[in-house]
Amino acid sequence: MSAVEIICRNCGADALLHREAVYDGFAKTGEKLTCSSCGFEYASEAEVPFKSHKAEPQIFTEADRSAKIEVFDEGENRKICRYCANYTVNPFTQFCAIHKKEVQATDTCDRFAEAEEKDEADSLI
Ligand SMILES: [Zn+2]
Repeated sequence: MSAVEIICRNCGADALLHREAVYDGFAKTGEKLTCSSCGFEYASEAEVPFKSHKAEPQIFTEADRSAKIEVFDEGENRKICRYCANYTVNPFTQFCAIHKKEVQATDTCDRFAEAEEKDEADSLI
């Protein structure tokens, strides 16, 4: 006998699905699907929040991905070529003055030098 695991929509618990045959007289008319934890009844099998083993890694991957994006926004962002003093851009190419080569705005390198803010440059004149 294999227990069917669910994450109950009603109580939120990791629970088991109770399957109970429903009879009308002697004829089986359907099944009653309830949460083993709180007894919440699901109207149909389609509404049962099965705890599928496929779904778990997916959730993990999504969380992982959004975490990476956050890291990029917070830290890496300031070390990319786009913000580097040695980065020049014209209508035809993006160029790194240190490496003398074409770069992408989102490239990073260990020779990053933060470009001065325009306001500071103005005040020096
Ligand atoms: Zn429940």
